[in-house]
Order: sequence, then structure tokens, then C-alpha cells
Amino acid sequence: MPYARGSPNMDDFDELRSSLTPREDNEAIASYQNTTAVACPSCEEPFDDMVVCKQEFTSLNLDFEMDLCTTINDGSVVLFTHK
Ligand SMILES: [Zn+2]
Repeated sequence: MPYARGSPNMDDFDELRSSLTPREDNEAIASYQNTTAVACPSCEEPFDDMVVCKQEFTSLNLDFEMDLCTTINDGSVVLFTHK
């Protein structure tokens, strides 16, 4: 089976995303809930939600304090939340 061209990181990201549950998808962000305790690629602790910021400038209104890990995927900021 031929593999799609792309960096290994992108493939990893798609694999990560495919194991999460989509929650919200609008013009600014896409969010996914981690229902299967997937490890955060940054700190390797299970995260709660992953948020992909689709625009260059995005404001997030957080209801509570939480720890965040971030990465960049394909030019988009990706946040991993830890409650
Ligand atoms: Zn983390």
C-alpha cells in the first residue's frame, strides 16, 4: 500500500487526531476530546482536550485554570489541555 507523501510528524498528527473524539469545529478552532487517555506528545501525560487553532490570531476563553502544552502542526498552533 503506498504511503501518502508528507513529513513523519504530519502522519503522527493524523494518527493522534484519529484516536480523539471531535467536539467542536468552527472557523477559528477545532477541538477534540481525549476519551482514550492518549499521551500528550509534549509532556507524555494523558491530556484532556486537543485544540487546533486555524487562524493566525485566536482568542480562547478558558473557564478555568489549566495546564497547557503546545505544538505547531502544519503552521497551526495546537494546544493540549491538562485539567
Ligand atoms: Zn502535556
